[in-house]
Amino acid sequence: MAEQSGAPGAVSLGRPSLGEAELAAVGEVFRSGWVAGAGPACHAFEEEFAAACGVGHAVAVANCTAALHLALLAHGVGPGDEVIVADYTFPATGHAVLFTGATPVFADVRADTATVDPDAVAAMVGPRTVGVIAVDAAGLPADYADLGELTARCGLFLVEDAACAAGATYRGRPAGSLAPVAAFSFHGRKGITCGEGGALVTDDAAVAAKARKLAAFGLESAWAREGRTDLPIPVFDEPGYNYKLSDLGAAIMRVQLARLPELLGRRRAVADRYAALLADVDGLVPPGEPGDRTGTWQSYAVTLAPGVDRGRVAAMLREQDIGCNFGTYASHLQPVYGVREACPVSADLFRRQLAIPMHAELSDADVERVAAALRKAVENSR
Ligand SMILES: *Cc1c(COP(=O)(O)O)cnc(C)c1O
Repeated sequence: MAEQSGAPGAVSLGRPSLGEAELAAVGEVFRSGWVAGAGPACHAFEEEFAAACGVGHAVAVANCTAALHLALLAHGVGPGDEVIVADYTFPATGHAVLFTGATPVFADVRADTATVDPDAVAAMVGPRTVGVIAVDAAGLPADYADLGELTARCGLFLVEDAACAAGATYRGRPAGSLAPVAAFSFHGRKGITCGEGGALVTDDAAVAAKARKLAAFGLESAWAREGRTDLPIPVFDEPGYNYKLSDLGAAIMRVQLARLPELLGRRRAVADRYAALLADVDGLVPPGEPGDRTGTWQSYAVTLAPGVDRGRVAAMLREQDIGCNFGTYASHLQPVYGVREACPVSADLFRRQLAIPMHAELSDADVERVAAALRKAVENSR
C-alpha cells in the first residue's frame, strides 16, 4: 500500500489496526505446531465468526474471492448460467462468476448508497439467470428485504458480498445473515484483517459442507480426522481447490473479531466528524447511511459535483501527503467482462467519487487536517 508512507504528517488512506494481542496469538500458534489451515485456531474462529454473524456455519478461507467462488459452486453454477452482479464493486465479485464459466450480468446501483438497485436487478432477470450477488458497498448493506423477496419469487439464489461488512447491520440483523450465503474478506485493507483471508457464512448446512469440502481439495477436513485412532484413507471423488485459511491467520482473526466493536466505533467517530466538517462544502456530497442500516465505514468516499476536477483535487491532497483514491470500480466498464449493458449511475460514481483517509488509527487532528485540505482543494478545482 503506497499510501502507508511513514513520512511525518502523512495521513494514509487506509491502515490495519494490528498490535501486541495479534502478535501474541501468532506466537501461540507457533508453539502449538498447527500452522496450516483447518486446525484448532480455524475451528475456534469459525465458531466465533458464525455466532457474530448470527448464522449456523462459517468456513474460513484464503480470501473473499474464494468464498464467492465456493458460494457459486455450492449452488451448482456453471457454463450457460447468468448471475446478476452489483456493478459498483471491486471486480472480484464478477471474477468469481467467470471462474465457474457462467456469465456475470451487471445491475446498476442506487446513487445514494452505491448498493445494487433492486429494480435494476428485477429488470435483468432472464431465462438463464440462476442467482444474484449483492454487494455491501464499502460495508453498507444493500436492500435485502427487496432482494430477498425478488429472488425468492423468481427462484434465484442470493449471495451477500459482505467483503467489507463485518459488523454492519440491516434492520437490526448482522451482515452475513442478510442473504442465505455471505462472503467476507479479511484482506489488509478491510476493517478486520489477517493480511489475506476470508470466510463463507451460511445457515445452510449443505452449502457449508460443500464449501468446506471444495476448499480443501475435495477432502474431508484434517480437523475431522484429527484424534481418530484408526487409519482413515480419504477418497477424492471430485476436484476441489486449496482455499483454506491458515491457522496463523485464524488466530489473528480471533483477536480482530474481539476488537471489532472498538475498531468500528473509531471508524464511526471519524465518519461523524467528517460529516460535520464537510457538510457545508460546495461541490461535494458526503456519503450517507439510510436509517434502516449501519455500515462499517470501510472507506469514506465523497461524491464530487460534476464540475469539480477530481484529478486536481487528488493531486492537491497527495501533494500534502494525504492519501486518496477513486471509490471503487464500475465493473461493466472493465474489458475483462466484455459486456455492453449500461449502468449509468455506477459509471458516474466511478468517475466522481473520491475516497479520503478512513481507518481506526486516525487521530482527531488527522481528520481535521484532511477535511480542511479537501475543502480547499474542492474550492480550487471548480
Ligand atoms: C475486497 C473485496 C473483495 C475481494 O476480497 P479478497 O479477500 O481480496 O478476495 C470482494 N468484493 C468486495 C466488494 C471487496 O471490497
